[in-house]
Amino acid sequence: RSAQPSDRSPRRGPVFEDQTPSPANSDSARDRAGVIHPMTDLQRHDREGPLLITRGDGVMVYDEDGKAYIEGVSGLWSVSLGFAQKRLADAAYRQLMELPSYHLFRHKSHPKAIELAERLLGIAPVPMSKVFFANSGSEANDTAIKLAWYYNNARGRPEKKKIIGRIGGYHGITVASGSLTGLARNHADFDLPLPRFLHADCPSHWRYGLPGESEADYAARLAANLEALILREGPETIAAFFAEPVIGSGGVIVPPRGYFDLIQPLLKKYDILFVADEVICGFGRLGAMFGCQVYGLEPDMIAIAKGLSSGYVPISAVMMNAKIWDACYAQSGKLGVFGHGFTYSGHPVAAAVALEALDLYEEFDIVGNVQRLAPVLQAGVQSLAGHPLVGEARGIGFLGGWELVSDKATKAPFPSPGMVGLMAERHCQARGVILRALGDTLTTAPPLVATADDIARIIAVVGEALDATHADLQ
Ligand code: PLP
Repeated sequence: RSAQPSDRSPRRGPVFEDQTPSPANSDSARDRAGVIHPMTDLQRHDREGPLLITRGDGVMVYDEDGKAYIEGVSGLWSVSLGFAQKRLADAAYRQLMELPSYHLFRHKSHPKAIELAERLLGIAPVPMSKVFFANSGSEANDTAIKLAWYYNNARGRPEKKKIIGRIGGYHGITVASGSLTGLARNHADFDLPLPRFLHADCPSHWRYGLPGESEADYAARLAANLEALILREGPETIAAFFAEPVIGSGGVIVPPRGYFDLIQPLLKKYDILFVADEVICGFGRLGAMFGCQVYGLEPDMIAIAKGLSSGYVPISAVMMNAKIWDACYAQSGKLGVFGHGFTYSGHPVAAAVALEALDLYEEFDIVGNVQRLAPVLQAGVQSLAGHPLVGEARGIGFLGGWELVSDKATKAPFPSPGMVGLMAERHCQARGVILRALGDTLTTAPPLVATADDIARIIAVVGEALDATHADLQ
């Protein structure tokens, strides 16, 4: 039932101690009355209400009734160090007491932004020159898009502005990053993508490979298609190509072997910038500090967010190489200002938490933990490959996915996309594991502090949930 203005006030009233919450003033009712939920079926939410999470500890979160769940997708692939990590909270508190807010506009600076930029440049997977701070992955990618345009204006190439993403890629939801995203569900009726944005093939070999086509042949075909797209549009019109090392929100799509080795030379050949979106892959998720290191990527810019602060506070950044920085420097000289920035770019509390998170990644040897346990997770993922609902079981590092299909032999998807995925997700939730279905791909991305026991529990529950979903469909 939709909230009506007339029934607003009772729901918002305080709950007194001698008053048990009634359905009308419960958190669930108040949620439905006031909160719009991102990436949610709003009508279903109005009928069913929220899962109200009230606290977290380690890999676990707890709902309002105290029921425990393993957060099998780290919130939104972000809480890599787990919940209730006191060191991160203390870092935020100390910074709040010292300098709770300041900015980097008009020559102002503060120590935490300086230190964080130094630390990031020190761990960047390829030599990077400067860091630009923002608050979200979308803003980081928007910034990288704007910098690609700025760069080509600075070089006197005003026609070189088109941006290529990939079908299935996810880069955010703002007007520009949402245009770059290659998912119909994020475009429909928002009038996206804008002109100037193009989408190359989705790198899923299992879904789009031809019968008998090897991964290497599929990669070669995608590279040939990309080159054809570049030539069709005119290389002189194309500014940048964006890619996640492994596609996350598009359903955990691991690129076919050799793919980036064929794509990168093409970008060089046609003078097209390469931007690596490390928003999910960065900070250990693939078993290396950055996904770039796993696939030998040499991007001109890198977008980071999520794991940068272990999701505790909003912060993101774009790291850029000297080529981009030199253009910014020259263009700002010409215009009198580098006219881009957010109020909270390099926010001191966010920067302080990110610095502490970087310390913890090292101290806890997070990359080592992922390397040790990735084989356990991946074996678990593959152990369900034979399930009648699973078309493909796939993953790398601490990312896993099961693409559910209506016919295993033909790979035919379900008639209403996303419905069966959601059923499986709900069955997991009922059994105390929160996972995320993206379309009909059930995905897991455990916190990077997860143990072998946590992983075993996730896999056991997914098995049960798939059986229950299968039974529902009979
Ligand atoms: N890029 C990637 C690879 C992402 O997975 C996401 C979010 O899931 C984004 C960008 C957008 O980040 P945000 O939601 O912080 O804007």
